[in-house]
Amino acid sequence: MELPLGIRRITTPLPTRPGHVHSYLLPGEDGWTLVDTGIGLPDAQEIWAASLDGAEVARIFVTHFHPDHVGAAADVAELTGAPVSQGELDYSQCELVWGNEEWPRRIADWFLTHGVPSEITEELIGSGNVYRPFIRYQPDPELVGDGDRLDGWELVAAPGHADGQLCLFKDRVLISADHLLGRITPTVGLWPESCLDPLGDYIESLKRTIELAPEIALPGHGDPIADPVGRAHQLIEHHRERLAFTESILDERPRTGYEVSLGLFGAELKPASRRFAVAETLSHLERLVLEERAERREDVGVVAYTARQLGRSF
Ligand SMILES: [Zn+2]
Repeated sequence: MELPLGIRRITTPLPTRPGHVHSYLLPGEDGWTLVDTGIGLPDAQEIWAASLDGAEVARIFVTHFHPDHVGAAADVAELTGAPVSQGELDYSQCELVWGNEEWPRRIADWFLTHGVPSEITEELIGSGNVYRPFIRYQPDPELVGDGDRLDGWELVAAPGHADGQLCLFKDRVLISADHLLGRITPTVGLWPESCLDPLGDYIESLKRTIELAPEIALPGHGDPIADPVGRAHQLIEHHRERLAFTESILDERPRTGYEVSLGLFGAELKPASRRFAVAETLSHLERLVLEERAERREDVGVVAYTARQLGRSF
């Protein structure tokens, strides 16, 4: 596939949906800048040695700490000898989640407070530990942030899908990671220790994309996006509809995020998918609270939401 500015794309397999992830090689005078590294499968170094086929990597950039982007960072750094750059906020979350044995317990407890049944949270702890060996992030990367430059590319903060996600922008080409995807709607979830309004952040990031007006976006999954501005408008509209749907489920009876997720995503989800469904539901509920379209209440360790009680006096 012919990509703009001499960019090359390398696609590596994922054991879970969507089955693949794209990395990009951006050409530069001192060698290639490699954006994202795929998941750390046991044979990641062999996969990368074959894919790079001798290409000189000058630096590695990680857009965000999700397993399919950061997973093989340490492997590729060892293979190429190239330094790794990662966003400052993103790296702190990376360490918190992947460098912390207590994290699966922490996240399970947090889901319990949002009404998720304990059979599901226990299974989440088990599956969280299964994934851990496949995430080999690079310790002590060079820390970067919004507005910094990386070999002529501007780093653009795009919080929402991940709080600290950074895209790259140059000559109206946006390397969009999971901020903007073509056919897939990026997940936008509320997680423990994350920013409090990820959906509000995401809408702002999409508006910023519209202002940047890229001509093409190269995403972490799926085909290049020929109309990034149109796609950003579509995603804003999608979340406007989802907010209205979420609001329509609420009434005066307090419901947990888990209960609301049954209405939004149905009852037939495996625990791993339920985890994302509840996180996504919570990002919408919290946005509704901020827009004064819902109310949150906390009672004996359980968080629940109701419709806004108009005219109620406390
Ligand atoms: Zn991804």
